[in-house]
Amino acid sequence: MKYLKVILLIAILFFFDCKANATRVKVRLFSNNNIEALYVSFDLGVYALFANDSLLLEPELGEGLSVELLPTALGVCVSVNNYNYGTFRQVTLQATDTACILCLNPRGVKQRTYEGNLIVSAFDSKNLRIINDVDFETYLAGVVQSEIYGKQSDIFRIQATISRTWALRNMGKHRADGFNFCDYVHCQAYQNRCVRPDIMLGTIQSAGETIVDTNGNLIDTPFHSNSGGQTANSEDVWRTALPYLRSVQDTFSLRMRQSDWTKVIPRDKWLNYFAKTHKLNTQDSEVRNTLLTFAQPERKAKILGVPLTRVRTDFNLKSTFFTVTTDSKSGDVLLLGHGYGHGVGLSQEGTIRMVSLGISYDSIIRHYYTGASIHRDENISQRYVDNFVTEITKIIDEDNANPGRVKSKKDDWLGKLFRVRDRMDREEEYDPTKQELESDDFKIEW
Ligand SMILES: [Zn+2]
Repeated sequence: MKYLKVILLIAILFFFDCKANATRVKVRLFSNNNIEALYVSFDLGVYALFANDSLLLEPELGEGLSVELLPTALGVCVSVNNYNYGTFRQVTLQATDTACILCLNPRGVKQRTYEGNLIVSAFDSKNLRIINDVDFETYLAGVVQSEIYGKQSDIFRIQATISRTWALRNMGKHRADGFNFCDYVHCQAYQNRCVRPDIMLGTIQSAGETIVDTNGNLIDTPFHSNSGGQTANSEDVWRTALPYLRSVQDTFSLRMRQSDWTKVIPRDKWLNYFAKTHKLNTQDSEVRNTLLTFAQPERKAKILGVPLTRVRTDFNLKSTFFTVTTDSKSGDVLLLGHGYGHGVGLSQEGTIRMVSLGISYDSIIRHYYTGASIHRDENISQRYVDNFVTEITKIIDEDNANPGRVKSKKDDWLGKLFRVRDRMDREEEYDPTKQELESDDFKIEW
């Protein structure tokens, strides 16, 4: 009977959760590492432990408890505070509330924290498969935090819109593997839950926003660190020419962290590379001269027929946007380069500069994605977004008014937001006075 009540409670919580946040995603964590052991502790909220599909432990996994998960040939071996519960095909840590944060400590890998549920199975006796089942927008905030730096919330709003568009286009990328995305750059980096209110603010402000082409279809939204002053045409980097991925002048990317680079390459190595790998006759003075004085006042795609993308890969260059000179003393080849990344689509540092100049976020998106526009999902409740923005802004203002204030875990800003979300999910009338009272109650419970 007690179990039934618990399952019912979880079902009700999930019903409310899903109603306001239409989509959840499954993201494989630590996908770039072999995980030989995982230790889980609980930073906020209470979790239930499921083995295969049955409840193993009632919702009582919270602060002070630690779960150890080890891969075996038969599945995952589970212990809670050193008490062994056995080995199961799949183990799930299920959040019983919207305010739940897990702390993951894999052996030999840096600790991370995540919201939502955790589904763990074993690839084999040496490697765990760890999946975070999480609210879509919560995932996006984590991606934004991993993918871009900056201070103004519009920077995060733009990155969130790009990442949401990418994610919605690529939901099935890992379908065959049983999840939506990995947490690595193969999909989008998702290295932790979002811990910054300003990043959460930008993400929430962009709720329901995607980038579409002139036919209203979601566009491909590649981005890179810095264009070096001019972005690249999609067909010069990949195969397909896309109407919204055109090369544009981008002075906003100049004089930023990744604007310029240089690389010294021994002259013989440079010439031999083109002679051996690309069969160019470097004995010919005209060929040699071109290879040693190649210049790009504007971006080019090839050097003597050799794709610059190939040269970039083979010499591990930051970009294809470089000019060749010779060092007068050593005689070495000197590459003077601009930008960092493939150069197609949005330049992140150009975006940071444009936001600092006060250029609007939709103008920035249109600058980098030719002819594209922002589509807003009308099913997203504006009241819901506005309430969130109000609450986060309050938290940011409070933090700014008290710089250096040491915050306890119980004081976590996300915890406050969770409670706002929880109440809004129940469609109660938004009332700031009531929220203060509830916050006090919550503190007493702790
Ligand atoms: Zn992936």
